[in-house]
Amino acid sequence: MNLILLGAPGAGKGTQGKRLAERLSVPTIATGDLLRAAVRNATPLGLQAKEYMDRGALVPDGIILGLIEEVLASAEAAGGVIMDGFPRTTAQADAVERLLARRGAAIDQVLNFRVPEAELTKRLLGRAAQEGRSDDTPETIGRRLAVYREQTKPLVAYYRERGLLKDVDATGTVEAITERALAAVGQ
Ligand code: AMP
Repeated sequence: MNLILLGAPGAGKGTQGKRLAERLSVPTIATGDLLRAAVRNATPLGLQAKEYMDRGALVPDGIILGLIEEVLASAEAAGGVIMDGFPRTTAQADAVERLLARRGAAIDQVLNFRVPEAELTKRLLGRAAQEGRSDDTPETIGRRLAVYREQTKPLVAYYRERGLLKDVDATGTVEAITERALAAVGQ
C-alpha cells in the first residue's frame, strides 16, 4: 500500500505515521527526518537544506526530487510506503506518481489530517519546548503554516478530485486519531 499523509505542520503526521506503520506493516518514510539526519551529518545535501529549514521555507524541489527518488527506489519501500511530509508541492506529487508508475505501483490513498490552526500553533510551541527542534521557534512556526497554505494545501484539492483523499479529524487523543485513520483506509 502506498499511502500519503497530508496535513499542516503540527497535525500529527509523524506520530500517526509511526503508529500506522506498525498497524499496517508498511514502513513510514519522512523527508523531514531524512533532512534532519543529513543536517546532523553535515552532508552536502544537509548543508544546502539547513538554511531553508531554519527559515521555515520548503527545501527547493531541485534538492528534494533526488531524495524522493532515492527513497522510493529503496528496498524498504518496495512493498509500499507511508509518505510523511512529501509530496509537498505539485512538482513533488508528479515525481512521486512517475516514480511509483515506473515500478507498476500507484498512490492508493491519501489521508488529510485536519486540525484547527489555533491548535496547530499550540502543538508546535509545545513540541518546541519538548524536542528543541530548531525550526519550531515562534517566528518560523507562522512561516511554516503560511508555506503549507500556499504550497502544500493545493494538493488536498488535487487528490480529492482524483477520488484518493479521505479527511481525518486529527483532534483528540493520539489513539482515537489512529483509529479514525485506520478506518479511513478500510482497516
Ligand atoms: P517536517 O519534519 O516534515 O515538518 O519538515 C521539516 C522541514 O524540512 C520543512 O519545514 C522543510 O523545510 C523541510 N522539508 C521536509 N520535507 C520536505 C519536502 N518534501 N519538500 C521540501 N521541504 C521539506
